Amino acid sequence: MQSSPAPPALSVIVPCYNEQEVLPEFHARLVPVMDAMGWPWEVVYVNDGSRDTTLAVMSALAAADARVAIVNLSRNFGKEIALTAGLDHSRGSDGVIVIDADLQDPPEVIPALIAAAQQGYDVAYAQRSARHGENILKRATASAFYRLMQRLGGKVQLPRDTGDFRFMSRRSLDALLTLREQHRFMKGLFAWVGFPSVAVPYERAPRAAGETKWNYWKLWNLSLEGITSFTVGPLKIATYLGLATALFAGVYLLQLVIRTIFFGNPTAGYPSLMAVILFFGGVQLITLGIIGEYLGRIFNETKGRPLYLVERHLPSSADRQVPHRAAG
Ligand code: UDP
Ligand code: MG
Repeated sequence: MQSSPAPPALSVIVPCYNEQEVLPEFHARLVPVMDAMGWPWEVVYVNDGSRDTTLAVMSALAAADARVAIVNLSRNFGKEIALTAGLDHSRGSDGVIVIDADLQDPPEVIPALIAAAQQGYDVAYAQRSARHGENILKRATASAFYRLMQRLGGKVQLPRDTGDFRFMSRRSLDALLTLREQHRFMKGLFAWVGFPSVAVPYERAPRAAGETKWNYWKLWNLSLEGITSFTVGPLKIATYLGLATALFAGVYLLQLVIRTIFFGNPTAGYPSLMAVILFFGGVQLITLGIIGEYLGRIFNETKGRPLYLVERHLPSSADRQVPHRAAG
């Protein structure tokens, strides 16, 4: 057949950074799950500038399986952007599934996501009911973060214990892809898009192999990203701190004047003066820093750079099994 084949119904999007150990196992577990559902599908592996042989592993998978698409980014852009690149290059006409390569999101949950979506939902997101292999500190910080976002989020509410693992219908994906901001806090963008959504509980497994790219500094920065890209609440802190201290200072001054008039002024208080100066110096620096966080993001957005650059794109295609077209 010369004409190009119909697009697959489902695309599975997998961002990968240094995943050479797990990728073959991931693919081996994904294939039977997807095949069992009986729709045409493809899997888009995004190589996010891996320093190991991840790209070679992907190429080997693509050579053996025409349903494999590869998007090779020009360098490491970070998971959120790698994911966006994969979504941009997905052809799934009915929808996409977003999943991590490290098997923490078990591919076996995908049929449950699809089944839930078929009840009339655009989005079926997997919600962790257990976090195996994560220590108490990580669990506690994650929980604190969700609580904070819940308070600050306003109209956009982030579902708890939810990562990127989800099914999205084509129309909700197209809506998501209209959001081209540089600072991409995906969980927040997913929530912003809305559409009828349903949670599917699952048990998050420990990483199968390789190691996590997360540390607490990165988590802290992700939280900052989440907060600053979804609420201007922190900018109001300065206003209210200022109001509160001005009020306090006014009352204090009044009290001082009255006391001086009636009882004189036995001068003292150099240490307390110092404390007050240091305290407000600190408050001012913090609020300046908060403004800076927003200003820096405005700066990055105004440059209008592309989100990522693709070094090479190998689309999935049934045609590719024809040998002379196999070269990339
Ligand atoms: N990832 C990526 N680019 C990065 C970091 C991570 O594409 O810069 C991918 C990684 O290969 C994995 C997924 O994002 O498929 C989740 O990463 P990880 O397992 O390190 O995060 P965690 O599960 O600990 O949140
Ligand atoms: Mg992981």
